[in-house]
Amino acid sequence: MSGGNTFLGMPAFPRNAAAAVQDSQLRFNLRKATHTIRGKRASVVAELPDWAELRAAGKEIKDHTLRNLERYLLQMEEAVTAAGGHVHWAADAEEANRIVADLVKATGETSVVKVKSMATQEIGLNEALQAEGITAYETDLAELIVQLGDDWPSHILVPAIHRNRSEIREIFHDKMADWGRAAPEGLTDEPRALADAARLHLRERFLSTKVAVSGANFMIAETGTLVVLESEGNGRMCLTLPETLISVVGIEKLLPSWRDLEVFLQLLPRSSTGERMNPYTSTWTGAVEGQEFHLVLLDNGRTQVLADEVGRQALRCIRCSACLNVCPVYERAGGHAYGSVYPGPIGAILTPQLRGMGSALDASLPYASTLCGACFEACPVAIDIPEVLVHLRGKARHPRTERLGMRAAGWVFNRPARLARAQRLGGRFRRFVPGRLPGPLSAWTDTRDIPDIPAESFRDWWNRTDGGAR
Ligand code: SF4
Repeated sequence: MSGGNTFLGMPAFPRNAAAAVQDSQLRFNLRKATHTIRGKRASVVAELPDWAELRAAGKEIKDHTLRNLERYLLQMEEAVTAAGGHVHWAADAEEANRIVADLVKATGETSVVKVKSMATQEIGLNEALQAEGITAYETDLAELIVQLGDDWPSHILVPAIHRNRSEIREIFHDKMADWGRAAPEGLTDEPRALADAARLHLRERFLSTKVAVSGANFMIAETGTLVVLESEGNGRMCLTLPETLISVVGIEKLLPSWRDLEVFLQLLPRSSTGERMNPYTSTWTGAVEGQEFHLVLLDNGRTQVLADEVGRQALRCIRCSACLNVCPVYERAGGHAYGSVYPGPIGAILTPQLRGMGSALDASLPYASTLCGACFEACPVAIDIPEVLVHLRGKARHPRTERLGMRAAGWVFNRPARLARAQRLGGRFRRFVPGRLPGPLSAWTDTRDIPDIPAESFRDWWNRTDGGAR
């Protein structure tokens, strides 16, 4: 039994993607799944005549909250404490993991059940707890498949999107017994049979585990309420049955009031699962009778993102995954190539901002896009992902050859006379221009053709013919 995998030390995106596109099964699974969700989303979004207004409202609410984050965070802390909960502040992943491990140890328990949560994946909580002798059991169906398969999540909403049902049957059959109740004899790959096997396996876990760890989709500052949206009901079991509930939530998840939540309860389900509303919406405020409640407010790079005037819009993200489902790069490369729990377009702008661009992988992420703009169109909170990608590309370290090439191009383009001379020279010697550039520059021409240089430039043609009049 393993506690899970991490993405640390993966090579840069182009290498990961080059390997992933060779996997035709993966591409088939991804194409089928993303196109299905994409179609559902498009039809339910088209039903709402005021979708554009809702989107603008979502953007405005998030921007307002981020501008006043400190005030709303303090209001949240005060309200949770008044309702009998305990609030902890975590500057980074290490601190958050330490807080959660200490809280679990204080209960005397050695296992926790988990509600699907991106924040706890981001900080590597399962691995940190395992190092302390505490086992974290995922209860979301797709997260369970990833955990049993000792795999990595590859999609925000459907972490096992890269698996088809016969692969899932195999994982259940081979691995369930290592984690608790074994898969039933003669398990088939029918969706209902797989769901039943997961239900029986998880039910035992819910009834025997005394500590739960969750994230939250939203926090409402005016009352100190946390909100989780889900489809399976497993999250609600975790939130209500255990004696101790610990919620790890990114500080950007705040909303000022319940009125604001109304906007997001329309935007999120339609953008994520393509449903008019999600099947389960759980809300809770502080501690309830028989349950202790701890809220861990997680920064982990978010205030640094907030300081960047262009990049901060990434903090509006509500993790709906609509941008993944429309992205041509994600559809072909899959989620693992991004080397982070946040794959696809949002991962390409969020990960390098949260982790910095120190590693080859993180520096390559802003390039993991064609800049087609489909992600921006689909985003329910209007994050201009292409704008942030270009902004981050400007900040990334560029190879020396590229820097020299750009400097030379800048020198030529800076003066019209120089450009005209260069064009004339290019036309004269065009037969000697190779089809493939030499050395490190060949990476450019390996996947692109160098366009033919015309014998005469447009500028010279214009002068010779007086703009085509002669
Ligand atoms: S960036 Fe926008 S579309 Fe992508 S996951 Fe976040 S909210 Fe959804």
